[in-house]
Amino acid sequence: MGNLVAIVGRPNVGKSTLFNRLTKTRQAIVNEQAGTTRDRQYGKSEWLGKEFSVVDTGGWVVNSEDIFEEEIRKQVVLAIDEADVVLFVVDVTNGVTDLDMQVASILRRAKTPVIVVANKTDNNDLQYNAAEFYSLGLGDPYCISALSGSGTGDLLDLIVSKF
Ligand code: GDP
Ligand code: MG
Repeated sequence: MGNLVAIVGRPNVGKSTLFNRLTKTRQAIVNEQAGTTRDRQYGKSEWLGKEFSVVDTGGWVVNSEDIFEEEIRKQVVLAIDEADVVLFVVDVTNGVTDLDMQVASILRRAKTPVIVVANKTDNNDLQYNAAEFYSLGLGDPYCISALSGSGTGDLLDLIVSKF
């Protein structure tokens, strides 16, 4: 399939919004409710003449917190296995959650390059909130707003530099 970028993270952090921006589509379902994109969604992208595929993860209809965590764990393990770069999306308006910590602990053991994407950084003040994501132990959090597109050009530069 060539270069593959996987987007992982807990529900409602903006994974599908980022997927849509990277692939310039409206394929992924973005919703106010957590967990609305079903299963996995693949799309294509191109930056600086480099083509790559993007996979959005994390849409499940679930009825228990245990299944929820198990599904996220599965998607993260799959992402490490198949992707060349993993985008671990977190939400600066929420801070570090237990689920973020669980995802991070799996990603820290992986050989696949991981970029921590601090999404919903819609203004400069929110940039200060991103500092707490250093505690995930996966390097510098990368501030973007998937909604407005701010920071996504620099993020793309970083992504294609990993191929
Ligand atoms: P997912 O569950 O991780 O795929 O999250 P979605 O992409 O479905 O987004 C969940 C909610 O967050 C939606 O209401 C989005 O519009 C919103 N959202 C996504 N990115 C941003 C952002 O950069 N800033 C703000 N303020 N909201 C965002
Ligand atoms: Mg989604």
